[in-house]
Amino acid sequence: MSKVVKFGGSSLASAEQFQKVADIIRSDPERRYVVPSAPGKRFKNDTKVTDMLYACYDLAEADQDFEQAFSAIEARYREIIEGLNLAVSLEGEFETIRKNFREKAGSNYAASRGEYLNGIILAAYLGFTFIDAADVVCFDNEGTFDQDKTNKLLSARLAESEYAVIPGFYGAMPDGAVKTFSRGGSDITGSIVAKAAQADVYENWTDVSGFLVADPCIIPNPKRIDVITYRELRELSYMGAGVLHEDSIFPVRQENIPINIRNTNAPGDNGTWIVGSTCQKSKYVITGIAGKKGFCCVNIEKAKMNGEVGFGRKVLEAFEENGISFEHIPSGIDTLTVFVHQDEFMEKEQKVASYLYRVAQPDAIEIEADLALIAVVGRGMKSTRGTAGRIFSALAHANVNVKMIDQGSSELNIIIGVANEDFEIAIKAIYDIFVLTNL
Ligand code: ASP
Repeated sequence: MSKVVKFGGSSLASAEQFQKVADIIRSDPERRYVVPSAPGKRFKNDTKVTDMLYACYDLAEADQDFEQAFSAIEARYREIIEGLNLAVSLEGEFETIRKNFREKAGSNYAASRGEYLNGIILAAYLGFTFIDAADVVCFDNEGTFDQDKTNKLLSARLAESEYAVIPGFYGAMPDGAVKTFSRGGSDITGSIVAKAAQADVYENWTDVSGFLVADPCIIPNPKRIDVITYRELRELSYMGAGVLHEDSIFPVRQENIPINIRNTNAPGDNGTWIVGSTCQKSKYVITGIAGKKGFCCVNIEKAKMNGEVGFGRKVLEAFEENGISFEHIPSGIDTLTVFVHQDEFMEKEQKVASYLYRVAQPDAIEIEADLALIAVVGRGMKSTRGTAGRIFSALAHANVNVKMIDQGSSELNIIIGVANEDFEIAIKAIYDIFVLTNL
């Protein structure tokens, strides 16, 4: 058995947090491969080391004095090393990084140093081998992650080390230039390492005890999700549910390796299991609710459009030609509505509208802004009658006007469009009917 364990920034923000992490790793010899983030926030208004690195590098790039900003970063690591009484010195590393900043090595390189340095400390503290992610996580010349090359290199390298630390968030391009994933990308590294190690579990340790049924900023103390499938999670994270980087599901999903979200500050909690499929029913008909504000919809009307072959293609072409991706396209007999991100669409709206008039010749186009989309997700919906009915009666009771309904044929989710101002009320109404009342 082997487990890959990834620890987020808040789990590695201070010497005290490092001790908790080491206790967790040492309590289970199967926890063999460790992927650390850079030190995160120690308290509410603290700054993550990654953000400090970006800011410091901006100064270097602008030929301004970055010494003070750099010293503050050094201090974060010194505090950890001293707090752990470690005989490690990063002074040589700091000098190299300073020099590379002066030589403008790039912001990807700069940001990656947060994980790199934290990895060196953690490997020394645990007595594990340090594997630089730049040697084993590969990107191609276009900067796209190279899954096959990485998997070959990394699995060969892991086979040589029984216990190792591989920093998260970055890798390198063929010319050796460091390249990072998008923010929060250490989750992706953890998943890549789990695949290469053919691990039995990918444990992702963070500062919450798993996924919650709804956003705690909207619902006070929401219930926790015990088990969720990859597909359900994908729907929820696309719609804004945080905790895990949405791209981190793909490498482990191919191998059917379960992800277990755990809390470094409450290691006794079981957390949430993310699995390929399960016979475990969720406690409620729905598994989770998530949503996003800031959409607008373009309603296109044309008499007898349903009989016109190619009408949909012409409409979508207007969006494609202007580089806008769409979210949903509910349609009626003489109407078709396209939901898009408001911020992307706003500056191009007149171009899209004139393209539409020219190519699709509609009778009318109407644009509505400030809409929110809510996804109600659950594998349990498939076998339960009346789910949609309950959602809409709850929304009607809460005085929420539903602008759009979209249920995929997989019966895994129902997407609802409401006005931005009704967003929180709608989520609360749905949560109450399924979780609190649990009828
Ligand atoms: N340190 C990086 C960030 O703050 C990556 C990560 O923590 O996953 O985004």
